[in-house]
Amino acid sequence: MTPTDSLPPVQHFINGKWTPSFSESLIDCVNPANEEVFAQIPAGDENDVNSAVSAATDAFSNPKWANTVPAKRAKILWRFAELIDENSAKLADCEILDSGKTTFDASKIEIPIVSEIFRYYAGWATKMNGDVIDLPGNNMGLNMRVPVGVCAFITPWNFPLLMAAWKIAPALACGNTVVLKPSEFTSHTSLWLAKLGSEAGLPDGVLNVVTGTGPDVGMALVKHPNVDKVSFTGSTRVGKLIQHECADSLKRVTLELGGKSQNIIFADANLKAAVRGAASGIFYNKGEVCAAGSRVLVQREIYDEFVEGLAAMAGKTTVGHPTAEGTRMGPVCNAAQYEKVLAAIEQAKSDGARLVTGGNSLRDEVGGGKGYYIEATVFADVDPDSALAQEEVFGPVVAVIPFDDEAHALEIAHNSRYGLAAGVFTRDIARALNFAKQLRAGTVWVNTYNMYDPSMSFGGFGDSGYGRELGTHALDTYTESKSIWLNLD
Ligand code: NAD
Repeated sequence: MTPTDSLPPVQHFINGKWTPSFSESLIDCVNPANEEVFAQIPAGDENDVNSAVSAATDAFSNPKWANTVPAKRAKILWRFAELIDENSAKLADCEILDSGKTTFDASKIEIPIVSEIFRYYAGWATKMNGDVIDLPGNNMGLNMRVPVGVCAFITPWNFPLLMAAWKIAPALACGNTVVLKPSEFTSHTSLWLAKLGSEAGLPDGVLNVVTGTGPDVGMALVKHPNVDKVSFTGSTRVGKLIQHECADSLKRVTLELGGKSQNIIFADANLKAAVRGAASGIFYNKGEVCAAGSRVLVQREIYDEFVEGLAAMAGKTTVGHPTAEGTRMGPVCNAAQYEKVLAAIEQAKSDGARLVTGGNSLRDEVGGGKGYYIEATVFADVDPDSALAQEEVFGPVVAVIPFDDEAHALEIAHNSRYGLAAGVFTRDIARALNFAKQLRAGTVWVNTYNMYDPSMSFGGFGDSGYGRELGTHALDTYTESKSIWLNLD
C-alpha cells in the first residue's frame, strides 16, 4: 500500500459521513521524516463545529442510540476493535506519516493497544450497575448512572490514535456521543477512527471528527453551549485556558496535561534493568510521551557507573527514517518541536549541565538535509532548579541528577510543579512501597517504566491536570449519578 492510498478524504466526519468543510482553508500536513507536504486537512471553523455538535446532540436523544441496550453497545465496541486491527496497516501508514513514529511503534505497539482499549470497555458496557437501597418511610431508593451527554475531545500529536481511544471507548460504553478535534499535526487516524466506528454499527452522529486548529475548532467546541463535557489532553498552558472557559459554563472537564516525571534509581537496584528502564523511559517515542522519565535521580554510590551505562544505551538508540529497519527513534513530530528541543539543549549547556552524549541535530546525517532528526541526548550533573530539570522538553533529552539518601531524592522529586508519573528502582520492596505512597504522581512504576494497561488509571497531580482516564475511573467521568426515590405506600 502506498501512503497516498492510506489517506482519508480531505473532509470532516460528521453525522456518519464524510462532510466537506464550511471553511475553504486547508492545513498542510508535513512529513517530519523529509519535511514534504504529503496531504492537507480542512481547517474547520465554528460552522463545522456547530454542525458536528448538532449531529451529536440529536444522536444523544435519538432512540437508535439512547435506547441501545448495553449488550448492543458492547457488540459495537467489540466490532470496532476488530475493524481497528483489520485496518492496522492503513492506520499505521497515516500515523507514521503524520508523527514520525517508527513502523514498529505504530503497528506493533500503539495500534494493538488501541484495539485492546475498545475490547476492555466493550466488557464494561454491560457491567455498569447501580444499587437499590431500603429507605425510611417505606421508600425505596435506586442509584443509577446515566451518560453525561455530548462530549468534546481535544487530543495532542504524540499518540494520536491512543489518546483518542482513551476517551472515545469509555465515553461510548457509557452511552455518550462525541465530537473529537485531533491535533492539526496528526488528524488522519482520528478521521479513520470515526469511519470505522460507523462501519462497526455506531448510529449516525454518535462519533464525529472535525479537523482544524486549537483556537478555531478546539475553543469553539469548548464554548459550545450544547457540549456537556470536555476532555482535553495537551499542554498545561492550553489546559488552563480550557478550564478558565469551562468555569463559566460549569461543563465537566478532564485535563491530562504535561509532565516532568522522574525515575529514581537507588544504589541497591539491578543496575542493568535500571539503565534499560531509564533509557526506554525517555527515548521511547522520541521522548514525546507525557509521562517520559525526563529526570533521572541516581544515588551517588552508583552515579558514575549509571551515567556511563545510560550514555551507552543512548549511543545505541539508532536514529533513522521511521520505516527503515533498525530505527529506534524517528524524527520529532514537527518543526516547532524540533526547534524547541534544540533550544532546550542549548539552554541546558549554558546553564552548566554536563553534556554526556548526543545534543545534535541529525538532519544532515540521517535526512540528507531534511527531517526533524535529533540525537538521543544525556545531560548529567543537572541543577534541580534549572530549566532542564523543571520544564517539559517533550523530546529525547534526559537530565540526570545525583542524590544522597531517600529524603534528598524525595525533595528533588517534589521540586516540580508537575506530578504525572515516577519510577523507583530498588531491590528493597519496603522502600519501593513507601516511596510509591509518598510520591505525588498519578502513576508510580516500581522496577519498570512506561507500562500501560486499559485497567490502570492514568492522570496527574498539580500542573499535570486532574481527572483520571482508563480503568473504572473513566466510567465515573463519563456518567452522572442519579438517585430515584420510590414511595411504596
Ligand atoms: P497543545 O496543548 O499545543 O495541543 C493539544 C490540543 O489542543 C491540539 O489538538 C491543539 O490543536 C489544541 N489546542 C491548542 N490551542 C488551543 C486552544 N486555544 N483552545 C482549544 N484547543 C487548543 O499540546 P501538544 O503540543 O499537541 O501536545 C503536547 C502536550 O500534551 C505535552 O505537554 C504533553 O505532556 C501533553 N500530553 C499529556 C498527556 C497526558 O495524558 N497527561 C498525554 C499526551 C500528551
